[in-house]
Amino acid sequence: MSAAAGGAQHGGPAGDSTRSVHAGRPPATAYQPSLPGPVFVSHYHLPGEAAGPYTYGRDENPTWERLEQAISELEAPGDPAARTLAFASGMGAIAAVLLSQVRAGQVVVLPSDSYQATRSLQERLESYGVRVRLAPTAGDAQLAALQGARLLWLETPSNPRLEVCDIRRLADAAHAAGALVAVDNTLATPLGQRPLGLGADFSVASGTKALTGHGDLLIGYVTARDGELTAGVRKWRKTVGAIPGPMEAWLAHRSLATLALRVDRQAANALALAGALLARPEVTGVRHPGLPTDPAYPVAATQMWRFGSVVSFVLPDRSHAERFLAALRLTGEATSFGSVQSTAERRARWGGDAVAPGFIRFSVGVEDAADILADVLRALDEALS
Ligand SMILES: *Cc1c(COP(=O)(O)O)cnc(C)c1O
Repeated sequence: MSAAAGGAQHGGPAGDSTRSVHAGRPPATAYQPSLPGPVFVSHYHLPGEAAGPYTYGRDENPTWERLEQAISELEAPGDPAARTLAFASGMGAIAAVLLSQVRAGQVVVLPSDSYQATRSLQERLESYGVRVRLAPTAGDAQLAALQGARLLWLETPSNPRLEVCDIRRLADAAHAAGALVAVDNTLATPLGQRPLGLGADFSVASGTKALTGHGDLLIGYVTARDGELTAGVRKWRKTVGAIPGPMEAWLAHRSLATLALRVDRQAANALALAGALLARPEVTGVRHPGLPTDPAYPVAATQMWRFGSVVSFVLPDRSHAERFLAALRLTGEATSFGSVQSTAERRARWGGDAVAPGFIRFSVGVEDAADILADVLRALDEALS
């Protein structure tokens, strides 16, 4: 596998760009739009029995279903068993899997370096009598925590430190130990990595980030191929009500048409930025999974086709990092990542991540690489004094 993605050779029925453009759209019908508009509805006309494809707006919505079909085609091309459920946010999707699949007395293995809101579910799980074990992503260290586990949660590449683990190796070991496997696929997107094809039971993600890529909505999803697992997650969504709005679901679907264009450009820009940062003496700890010298690269290159928009690096201290961020003009100071616009933040400002005070998480947008590099290099120069 390599970053030079394109065409149908990846095993799907069509190339990644083609699938992104057409995913989930209904067959061409005379005088109808290619993507029907959002259906705004709380109750459907429902005569007689309380059954049917559409009953109540918390249970079903045709706009979600088209988006869900599209994401299934991206996460599991050519697999008719794959089903996706859309959620109000990435956290809605993550909580749905963790809280619907695990009971009191069971063991969950979480990454100790995951997205921090995922780790904050530890407290909730423990209050329900679930035992939580934490182990780092790097070096497949979660392997040592699998005995007696019910669910293994992976996040690769991890946010914000960009560590990578071997999904196939961990999934095989987890299954041998009787555990289910879920992978947070937010950073890679389904065009970067396909966890179900690497043995995972669930691919879960925030579509708020690179999947939709415009920084204008929150959405999340869960994809699985086992009917019982999907039914449990669907029931959780209905009971808890963590459903996406039809407008968000429609905007998310509309965004998918440009997914391949965006992630290809972002990956190329990220590599260019990482290379330029390596040449700066005041910058240390440059990480990007697509950088051939990165410690994560050997594993990333076997399971990823595209390496994402995020580059992380460390400036000497907090005030140096703050001077750098304030000097950026093209790049906005913001959290989140994966947007068409470049953004960056000093991650330690939130607390909760094991990162240096000068650690920068930089999300590369789809601007011209030369402009991004010029902005960053100028801001680095200004931050020196
Ligand atoms: C942002 C993020 C989430 C949470 O997604 P929301 O849509 O903000 O709820 C989960 N996992 C990762 C890796 C993230 O970056």
